Amino acid sequence: MDINVGDTLKLKKQHPCGSQMWKVLRVGIDFRLQCEGCGHQIMIPRKQAEKNVRQIIPGPAPCREENTP
Ligand SMILES: [Zn+2]
Repeated sequence: MDINVGDTLKLKKQHPCGSQMWKVLRVGIDFRLQCEGCGHQIMIPRKQAEKNVRQIIPGPAPCREENTP
């Protein structure tokens, strides 16, 4: 699964604020996600994030590492 910083994830579970959209702030062993509804930030393990993703909306990520010359 290809998830990059700047992407937005639509998760199966919705946040108590009603939003299902989470912005990816950091990837690695853990993902740092920010709720688009209320701005709340969470850290969750990559495995758990991948399991809960329904849709990935690619963002204009300025720091994609795959573009290195
Ligand atoms: Zn929220």
